[in-house]
Amino acid sequence: MTSFIHKGHLDFLSDNQKTELSKHFMTASTTAMPHQLAAQLGIEYSHALAVLADLEAQGVCEMKLLIYHNCEPDLPVGAIPYGTGFPDLPWTCPHCESIVENYDELSFDLMAISKQPIEFA
Ligand SMILES: [Zn+2]
Repeated sequence: MTSFIHKGHLDFLSDNQKTELSKHFMTASTTAMPHQLAAQLGIEYSHALAVLADLEAQGVCEMKLLIYHNCEPDLPVGAIPYGTGFPDLPWTCPHCESIVENYDELSFDLMAISKQPIEFA
């Protein structure tokens, strides 16, 4: 089943950008991170975030909060459902197994995972 996302508060997207998004989300279980999407479409980070938030609000994708520890800055060491807040401290890093007692050691990013093909119209 393909979901059609019609413009509403995504009015800032051009037809080309919608085509690009439809291609990106052609299959279920596609992932997208706001900074990737921003670079891919040439839009601002806040707009990319708005697109993903809209998809989540419409129930066609799931958002996760990715957790990065400073032991491995480029690799997410954990992921929790977005909207449940930040992980409780102390938090044990599954990668290096050290005990994190300060949010300064962590950084976060968002990732959306589509539940079904999405077409932007
Ligand atoms: Zn670690």
